[in-house]
Amino acid sequence: MLEMSKEYYVNALRESKFKITPQRLQVIKYVNSKTPGHFTAEDVYQSVRKIEPTITLATIYNILKALRDAGTINSFEANGTTWFETNHEFHGNFICSNCGKITDVPISNELINDLNSLDGFTVENVSLILSGTCEKCSGVKGKQS
Ligand SMILES: [Zn+2]
Ligand SMILES: [Zn+2]
Repeated sequence: MLEMSKEYYVNALRESKFKITPQRLQVIKYVNSKTPGHFTAEDVYQSVRKIEPTITLATIYNILKALRDAGTINSFEANGTTWFETNHEFHGNFICSNCGKITDVPISNELINDLNSLDGFTVENVSLILSGTCEKCSGVKGKQS
């Protein structure tokens, strides 16, 4: 596992020619606190504007996109929304169709290896969305996450 820290995201933004402003630093703090986890730009907005009241949703989108383009965070589309996450490992995102909770589920490396063994193909990014019922909604007792 790659060790994530605030500096990791700060450096990525600097390399993308972004100046580190107090607003951008708050967005980085939020992102860094969401490991593991899934969040939308709106989630970031609701949290960061308590500290930086003048920040706009557009500013947050720009920072999240820059972080994603720099390869430091991942994004995917689900339920009509763009989700962001710091998890870089190959994994599937399982969405509960009842409560909407998103859970990371492991993907067999064999799938990736099979694809990489095809001539000329290299898997660089996986966006796998699965849906169904989570353990809470299926009423299975015991395992809680
Ligand atoms: Zn559920
Ligand atoms: Zn995920």
